[in-house]
Amino acid sequence: MAELEYQCCYCEEGIAKGDIGAVRIVISGLWAQADGSTQEVYAHSECAADKFGRALSSSVPFDIQAFAPD
Ligand SMILES: [Zn+2]
Repeated sequence: MAELEYQCCYCEEGIAKGDIGAVRIVISGLWAQADGSTQEVYAHSECAADKFGRALSSSVPFDIQAFAPD
């Protein structure tokens, strides 16, 4: 079995390269210095749209399609 390169932070399944809209979510402290700690997580495009996008306030636009390369 091939080793998973990226695991979705929502469903824990591997993310295939065919999911061209998959995203990397980088979290860092708002007031942190440049060398402050960051955390990266990864998500399927569908999971990001459903779990992340829908959790945002309705006043915050989020379009998962924007992250797919042209
Ligand atoms: Zn997922």
